[in-house]
Amino acid sequence: MSCLFCKIINREIPASVVYEDERVFAFNDINPQAPTHVLIVPKQHVASLNELDAAHDALVGELVRRAAAIAKDRGIDAPGYRTVFNTNRDAGQTVFHIHLHLIGGRSLAWPPG
Ligand code: AMP
Ligand code: ZN
Repeated sequence: MSCLFCKIINREIPASVVYEDERVFAFNDINPQAPTHVLIVPKQHVASLNELDAAHDALVGELVRRAAAIAKDRGIDAPGYRTVFNTNRDAGQTVFHIHLHLIGGRSLAWPPG
């Protein structure tokens, strides 16, 4: 499997692991854009949101709820945080294994660049 995030999930490449269960894995982004920058990923390989179907609905819900739980753990739930899925070229997706960015710990500009 050539996918970078599958290798991280399989512990073939080291990462700073934040959370793991049977279906979900979370780790700190190697190039953090804010004091909290965690990537929440499904253990199942799905390349992008474009490949989702109804069978993934529960899994996507788990990713989003895990992001909220990590935000709460970090104490950024009340001040706020951003959750982002980048999809394909125009959004700057570079790793083609779905990942939810959890970004917070500072004030974030909107709209994004
Ligand atoms: P995206 O641009 O949405 O595809 O995001 C990919 C993210 O993966 C970027 O924020 C990268 O900094 C991050 N990233 C790339 N390689 C690693 C790695 N080995 N460990 C942790 N994060 C990584
Ligand atoms: Zn993968």
